[in-house]
Amino acid sequence: MGRKNRRRPDEARDLGPTYASRTTETHPDGAWIVQRTTGAAATKPYRCPGCDQMIPPATPHVVAFRADDERDLENRRHWHTPCWAARDRRAPRAGR
Ligand SMILES: [Zn+2]
Repeated sequence: MGRKNRRRPDEARDLGPTYASRTTETHPDGAWIVQRTTGAAATKPYRCPGCDQMIPPATPHVVAFRADDERDLENRRHWHTPCWAARDRRAPRAGR
């Protein structure tokens, strides 16, 4: 039992069955892990970075975080599903 066991990707436990699906999407600003959640287990509202509005508890939405920051759960962002879908279009500097 070494101490290298500290922060295993055991967080599947944390992500739990709340997340119906989990995909990796590649966007102009990098790869994102995207999870669709039913929101059923959400007990607090989240602020959607797309429209700056709150996502009420128990609302199905998208949880996204950078693939290279996957371990950093604090980097997760909660988006309205349509806001995430429109994300690329909203960011003018994404162009290439
Ligand atoms: Zn939104």
